[in-house]
Amino acid sequence: MTSRITVLGATGSIGQSTLDVVRRHPDRYQVFALTAAKRADEMAALVREFSPRYAVMADSEAARRVQAQLTCGCETTVLSGTRALVEVAEAAEVDQVMAAIVGAAGLLPTLAAARAGKRVLLANKESLVMAGPLFMQAIREGDAELLPIDSEHNAIFQSLPHNYGGDFSAHGIRKILLTASGGPFRGRTAADLENVTPAQAVAHPNWSMGAKISVDSATLMNKGLELIEACFLFNCQAENIQVVVHPQSVIHSMVQYCDGSVIAQLGQPDMRTPIAYGMAWPERIDAGVESLDLFDIARLDFTPPDEETFPCLRLARDAFNAGGTMPAVLNAANEIAVAAFLGEQIPFTRIPSLISDVMQRHTLAAADSVEVILEADRWARDCALQLLNETNSSVENPA
Ligand code: NAD
Ligand code: MG
Repeated sequence: MTSRITVLGATGSIGQSTLDVVRRHPDRYQVFALTAAKRADEMAALVREFSPRYAVMADSEAARRVQAQLTCGCETTVLSGTRALVEVAEAAEVDQVMAAIVGAAGLLPTLAAARAGKRVLLANKESLVMAGPLFMQAIREGDAELLPIDSEHNAIFQSLPHNYGGDFSAHGIRKILLTASGGPFRGRTAADLENVTPAQAVAHPNWSMGAKISVDSATLMNKGLELIEACFLFNCQAENIQVVVHPQSVIHSMVQYCDGSVIAQLGQPDMRTPIAYGMAWPERIDAGVESLDLFDIARLDFTPPDEETFPCLRLARDAFNAGGTMPAVLNAANEIAVAAFLGEQIPFTRIPSLISDVMQRHTLAAADSVEVILEADRWARDCALQLLNETNSSVENPA
């Protein structure tokens, strides 16, 4: 039977890898909806190839540009706005939703897919970081299936017992070993980081990804967000997770058991592997990814992370331990800081200090509703922009 899929963030790096897997299995998957922010030409080309029922753009001007490129025989309805994003995520016809919008913008449609009981393929880690307990509750109450797509979390999922119910001790689990490549600036000193450029920061040694997550990898905030993501996904505490820098990115993460066993998942650094795993689970399908050649790899290295030079990992751990609205504040301040760095408005080293400044000014609240979380997100963005504008006159909110 074919599975109908909505791809949120279809023009992005994860969206394209997802559509590549769909393309290889036309008998198994049918595209119900595709969504994107602004890239109208790319969306029009995807509509022509996949003939989805809906194409949704973040704003109406982009939707108009998509519509203008489609012929009158085209049966795709073009929509715009957050309401439409939510509708294509929760529509009754949909079986699975790839949540691959970048940043907090992904929260509402991803949550809608969870509440509607879909198979949620979760790439958009920011939505889980912001709203972890609410999101996990929505998955349970909606009777949804949550398949982690982030390569580390997909590896952990594959390395946990198949009946893992969220209790480490019941399954003899000691620790999760969360691997990190270390990013493009691994081994640098704080002084070396003063003058690094956006182009250097987005040039990841192993993975090809969108700009925001590439900068997050360079600051180690990506690992911090992933630590929080793992705590929520696998129901554990920050001290149950050890970050291990492994520059080859061949082991995608591991689980350590009380009998001394360590179970790992290995593979090429190609997101089509976790995407295909999530889409076909519990089956396995061809993802278009070559087999690993271990002789070619020859060696695997492991070192502890340098949290002095890269303070974002510690900030993320602090935010998770503080709980409530703090992870949403961390995430929002990071989004502003990364956009300002990419816009060449602040140096790389201002990213962690800005996030820390915003966190220190936040009055913690219980994150018991989406409204409270969105309000904390807005507050943190405003606070970060205000702090930046005190030293810099033209920083804009990317949201
Ligand atoms: P990307 O920048 O390449 O793509 C982002 C997608 O989101 C695009 O389709 C864009 O049009 C859409 N989008 C952006 N802002 C939007 C908005 N305001 N409203 C609606 N749509 C919007 O990013 P990516 O690298 O594909 O990452 C997507 C998500 O997956 C991120 O949360 C990232 O952390 C996560 N992730 C990515 C990778 C990777 O290898 N790229 C790996 C693990 C997790
Ligand atoms: Mg990852």
